[in-house]
Amino acid sequence: LRHLARKLRASGPVTVAEYMREALTNPGQGYYTRRGGVGESGDFITSPEISQVFGELIGIWYISEWMAMGKPTTLQLVELGPGRGTLTEDILRVFKQLASVLSKCDVSVHLVEVSPKLSEIQAVMLTGGKVQPNPEDESAYMKGISKTGIPIFWYRDIQDVPPGYSFYLAHEFFDALPIHKFQRTEKGWREVLVDIDPEVPDQLRFVLSPSRTPATQCFIQPEETRDHVEVCPEAGVIVQKLASRIEKDGGAALVADYGHDGTKTDTFRGFRNHKLHDVLSAPGTADLTADVDFSYLRKMAQGRTATLGPIKQREFLKNMGIDLRLQVLLQNSGDTATREQLLHSYDMLMNPKKMGDCFNFFALLPHHRLVHPDKKDKPESKSPLPPVAGFNELLLK
Ligand code: SAH
Repeated sequence: LRHLARKLRASGPVTVAEYMREALTNPGQGYYTRRGGVGESGDFITSPEISQVFGELIGIWYISEWMAMGKPTTLQLVELGPGRGTLTEDILRVFKQLASVLSKCDVSVHLVEVSPKLSEIQAVMLTGGKVQPNPEDESAYMKGISKTGIPIFWYRDIQDVPPGYSFYLAHEFFDALPIHKFQRTEKGWREVLVDIDPEVPDQLRFVLSPSRTPATQCFIQPEETRDHVEVCPEAGVIVQKLASRIEKDGGAALVADYGHDGTKTDTFRGFRNHKLHDVLSAPGTADLTADVDFSYLRKMAQGRTATLGPIKQREFLKNMGIDLRLQVLLQNSGDTATREQLLHSYDMLMNPKKMGDCFNFFALLPHHRLVHPDKKDKPESKSPLPPVAGFNELLLK
């Protein structure tokens, strides 16, 4: 707060995006930089922290897509914002169990993480802490070997990840990126800004820009019907990068987050200690987040890849076979406490009133994965493409 107040006094109000960036990822004081409280003992809990089944099914999704794409001989798993590293850990366990399927494939893991604190936690989780900082021969800031023998690299930015056939994963990542907020007024669109409150010392408040800002001009579509709009340009830039990389080198991206398809208005909120927290109070001590606008992500793929979804988490997980997996785990667990825990975590992930409906899955895939390139010429001569798991109903043979 002191750092921000000094800045606001010196140079005037800042955009919500700049405020959010400072509060979350300021190199000294940002929430993620210092603590990043993912998990039960932190400020918010995520699906991979609730149940191992979540990451296992995502691991299966990647193997299924890798097979459908003709089993390429190298595969980079690139996770954006890996939190505590739990999701990657669960995926790597599946890769190990299916080692015979992946035996001819050279697998590596690439984690994009800005938080020194969280990258340390990830290193302990995934490698047992045996990592090499600043390897000279790589663009990564740290590298190590997973407990299952797979090389792992850490980067601050997606553009440092080497090119190559890659599967990208962004779970609860895009919602943490800075948003711009806009409001329709009688005088036209204005941007919502954060300023110091002149009446109360060291308190922040929202104000409206007196005139249009560069962001108002760039990000509000002429056909917009809503009165309040949130736009996350950083998410757009990252999706553009993912789409270009997939178009060029192959692979796929799976994005899972809470969000909407271009319909919601005011979703900016804070979480501290598992409770809603005023976004303007004690910046740097709470997670700040906004729903992901999937319609914007789809637009930013710019037709370079095909897109699937968003579909609700409970539908995606059902299509991935969560019910079967639960049955197996229940059969294999001897004690009542474990069985209750399994049922409780299933309910958290699947119940429409909990995480089942508000979380969505969205994918970027090469066009040829969904439509044969020469389908128009000889539709009958080609065997049908296998359906994309998770986005289609599970058919048991
Ligand atoms: N995917 C994890 C954690 C989600 S929290 C899970 O589901 O449990 C958001 C994650 O994104 C954290 O690891 C945070 O440090 C990281 N992060 C936030 N902003 C980032 C940015 N601009 N670049 C890279 N990582 C970022």
